[in-house]
Amino acid sequence: MGSMENNHKILAKESEAFATAARVKYYDIVIDSGRGAILTDVDGNQYIDLLASASSTNTGHCHPKVVKAIQDQAAKIIQYTPAYFANSQAARLVPRLAELAPMSGPVEVAWGNSGSDANDAIIKFARASTGRQYIVSFTGAYHGSTYGSMTLSSVSLNMARKMGPLLPGVVKVPFPDPWDKLPDESEEQFVDRYFKMFKLPFETYLPVDEVAAILIEPIQGDGGIVKTPPEFMKKIYQFAKENGILFAVDEVNQGMGRTGKWWSIQHFGIEPDLMSVGKSLASGMPLSAVIGRKEIMESLGAPANVYTTAGNPVTTAAANATLDVIQEEHLLERSAKLGEKAKQFFEGEQKKYDFIGDVRMYGLDGGINIVNPQTGKGDTAATTRIMYRVFELGAIIISLRGNILRFQPPLVITEEELDRAFGMLDQAFAEEAAGKL
Ligand code: PLP
Repeated sequence: MGSMENNHKILAKESEAFATAARVKYYDIVIDSGRGAILTDVDGNQYIDLLASASSTNTGHCHPKVVKAIQDQAAKIIQYTPAYFANSQAARLVPRLAELAPMSGPVEVAWGNSGSDANDAIIKFARASTGRQYIVSFTGAYHGSTYGSMTLSSVSLNMARKMGPLLPGVVKVPFPDPWDKLPDESEEQFVDRYFKMFKLPFETYLPVDEVAAILIEPIQGDGGIVKTPPEFMKKIYQFAKENGILFAVDEVNQGMGRTGKWWSIQHFGIEPDLMSVGKSLASGMPLSAVIGRKEIMESLGAPANVYTTAGNPVTTAAANATLDVIQEEHLLERSAKLGEKAKQFFEGEQKKYDFIGDVRMYGLDGGINIVNPQTGKGDTAATTRIMYRVFELGAIIISLRGNILRFQPPLVITEEELDRAFGMLDQAFAEEAAGKL
């Protein structure tokens, strides 16, 4: 081992500053490199990445085309703030995103550095263009960590206590999680019940003509990979359109091919007015965007949504290369095809193991609900045992909401890697069933 690598190890293991920076959340490892779906830690251990860094590396780690685009651009010019004038990479990216956006008519793009600030920008654009102040979002959603986006998210009482007061003018309505359906309830009754709850604020304390936008994750990510019931989506969309409310979608986690389509809203046949994109937009480089109808985007005069480095030449070069890779390597089709294979695998496991409550899979976007077979309720302890065993066997997976295994591998994962990961998961499930974990 060369001295550079040794230095790395020493830093990783012994430096307090490094230990703080690399604060361990799930696994006590320090990542050193990645290729495709394979991660290597500073000790040389390899893992199959079943998370794609929270769905931010859909093109895989260090895709050669993305790396080259970043290197080439960095050698030309790294940064000039797009607040002052355009750069050639961003100028190329805007029409490409406009073309891909699931919206007819002219659209415009505003840059950010993170999914969080993109969702803050949605609040700004919605308020400015409608002259209304309220934003409606859903329980179970995660929209980010800035004050605006955190307010839009489902924040725990504990967090609110520590960080409140949050942004005024955000109203939270219950998200129809299909797993909260009552035993004797039909799909229609379930949707009606939640639509009634959705309308309740408007009938009691929330003047509908003061509502600027409804923001929704079409498929909740951190909420547990939960797809909005399509009929419910239709109803709230109609409600928005009838009442002059903008319809905004958060595609930060589920966009960029994750669900087998460019955008998860495309599973619903609905055209949003505004959408936020981030994470995999630039293969994990810090770039986000709000894409919206032109007249909405023009409502906010500069410099009301400007960040010095947002949309800079290097991040937008990475995004252009990311779009190339997704298109040239047919990653949408790949996500859909491998997602089907994953669905079959997990549904097969569900037949074998009664602690697998249900399997949610939309492209390579999966949530596997681990339950106590006696009560049918989520089993966080079992999920954690399984998760750690899978890690020991050589794949990285985490849980959402404590009891849902989050399955979001890079879309470039090979079938061989996927099969190996399935072997590890099957072994962990079998050991859990045998009481060995
Ligand atoms: N929106 C969704 C749906 C997300 O999943 C996330 C991050 O997990 C965000 C927004 C926030 O993005 P970022 O962490 O880049 O600020």
